[in-house]
Amino acid sequence: MPTLSPNAGELLMQRIEQLAAISESEHGLTRRFATPEHRRANDLFADWMKQAGMSVQEDAIGNVTGRYEGTTDSAPCIMLGSHLDTVVMAGKYDGMLGVLCGLACVEHLAASGQRLSHAIEVIAFADEEGVRYHSTFLGSRAVTGEFDLSLLDRLDKDGISMRDALIAFGKNPEEIGAAARQPGDIAAYLEVHIEQGPVLEQQGLGVGVVTGIAGATRMMVTLTGEAGHAGTVPMTLRRDALVGAADCIAAIEKICTGPVDLVGTVGAIDAKPGAGNVIPGSVGFSIDIRAAEDETRNTAVEAVKDHIKSVCEKRHLAVDIDTVHDEPSEACDPALIEHISGAIASCQPRVLTLTSGAGHDVMVMSHLTAAGLIFVRCAGGISHNPAESITAEDAWLGATVMLQTVLSLADATAH
Ligand SMILES: [Zn+2]
Repeated sequence: MPTLSPNAGELLMQRIEQLAAISESEHGLTRRFATPEHRRANDLFADWMKQAGMSVQEDAIGNVTGRYEGTTDSAPCIMLGSHLDTVVMAGKYDGMLGVLCGLACVEHLAASGQRLSHAIEVIAFADEEGVRYHSTFLGSRAVTGEFDLSLLDRLDKDGISMRDALIAFGKNPEEIGAAARQPGDIAAYLEVHIEQGPVLEQQGLGVGVVTGIAGATRMMVTLTGEAGHAGTVPMTLRRDALVGAADCIAAIEKICTGPVDLVGTVGAIDAKPGAGNVIPGSVGFSIDIRAAEDETRNTAVEAVKDHIKSVCEKRHLAVDIDTVHDEPSEACDPALIEHISGAIASCQPRVLTLTSGAGHDVMVMSHLTAAGLIFVRCAGGISHNPAESITAEDAWLGATVMLQTVLSLADATAH
């Protein structure tokens, strides 16, 4: 099987540095959707794709796509991609590695003038992280035709609507519908992404194949008791909402420990009135529960709700549980898993299958076409953090596995 040239890993790392230098913040990397920095990153990436001989377009949500034609002009494409937006104080590899691996594959083909039965399209999605508008997957949802136009009225923290941000970005929001692709346009979507977890590193492997993305349930819970003087209300007469929340939080950890792939997190808590000498009268906290198996997650969610209700009954607290997000798990395409596994087997001693606890564009793209995900080892499993780190060798490996998967896929489906 062909591999990328030995210096392709170094080139990937250099380009990652160039993209990481385009940041809203003076220190660290922050590049939110539809900002001037996003514009610069898109333009730089578009230039690289043009240099590789691709025709480049940007749709109305700001996804930038390059196309490398196949042997026939109208051939369906194999789409390779990831995202160019980042979280606040992000790492350099989340998203950027994936778009650059796609570009590296096309550069490999273009260098020898090789055309496949399929066209190759490389897409850099405009928004995956959803930081600016507290949204999810704006870019890929526009491509699958699932973009919710009511989001255009949503405001960012500075009061700028998504509509106005897109106009300032040089786009016509009325044309977002036209960004949608037809199922016949795209034969498969493939993404390389850092693992954002520690498993590959623990196993001593550079890459792995993802079999599915975990489903997730997010809830906001409010417990209401009664605020009172910390010095005068006897312990037995209190309705302390924060002690009730503490009991619930400890139970969430217990319920979510055990079943493989099940994880539960309370990441935010707000006690009111929030004074050291006042009994907390009301507490709001978040719950995030994820699992590869929907049944496992749903069972855990019900157990958590039951426990919260019993705590509140015992402590005479009022409770409100609001489910703000409930997304089922998404399996990756079985045939693509086979192709990716074959490619990995030719590059490293063992093929490891993983599930992803984090959501990715691949999850949305699977609504439109066969979708597959290749994970690359990252140091300590750390991501969404400036300490995010990968090696040039692993970047090379990820891109080579992507290339071999593309070739094997094009081979298998050639007419
Ligand atoms: Zn990402």
